[in-house]
Amino acid sequence: MVSGGYEDDRDFGDVIVYTGHGGRDPNTGEQIKDQVLKDSGNAALVKSMVVDMPIRVVRGAAGSSKYSPKTGYSYDGLFRVTDAWIKVREDGFKVWQYLLKKTVDDVAGEVLVADSNSRELQKIYDCSCQICGQQMLAFGHVKFAMIQYIRPLGFPHDGLEGIENALCLCSNHRDLFRYGTLIIEDDFTVVDQIDGEELGVLTVKHEINVSNLQYHRERYQVQHDEPPL
Ligand SMILES: [Zn+2]
Repeated sequence: MVSGGYEDDRDFGDVIVYTGHGGRDPNTGEQIKDQVLKDSGNAALVKSMVVDMPIRVVRGAAGSSKYSPKTGYSYDGLFRVTDAWIKVREDGFKVWQYLLKKTVDDVAGEVLVADSNSRELQKIYDCSCQICGQQMLAFGHVKFAMIQYIRPLGFPHDGLEGIENALCLCSNHRDLFRYGTLIIEDDFTVVDQIDGEELGVLTVKHEINVSNLQYHRERYQVQHDEPPL
């Protein structure tokens, strides 16, 4: 995304208040309507926020801040979208705004892989949780789901990045699986570790490598007779 086209933008270098898209007269550039979620890019930025997927920031020479390039465009790295809201401007029109914060780590490679897996699974499940079926809607309108790797990626677990090692879940079940409240059997029965109760069967529309579920159980399943602490 390109920063620097709106007087409502605020650019502090590593922190940017970015104004969304739409509602402008294509000839004069004047704001003549409210911006809405379906305008190009607005819903995508909300989605980036809720699934914590950084975006690339490019600054254009049209920007008025000291961080804008003199001419052309500059690629300024990956930023996280940490907040989104609707602002009423002085002219009465509503615009979408986003708080962007520069990422500390260079995570470009990871982001690309995570992004393609995430898009694929969200499409297969239409953003519905494989455990409870809940479809999450940011601002009541933007579908999203969390992608959770079954065998964690990177050191020391070294899980693989493909979707056969990933689940499409709501935020609640993402955390319950990630922190071992729930484990999943090879036949996809979902078991609550609190009391061993079977919660049902995972909805499965993509190939899951069950050795990843075994790996998760070996490391996150506790003896049933241990009391809550
Ligand atoms: Zn769920």
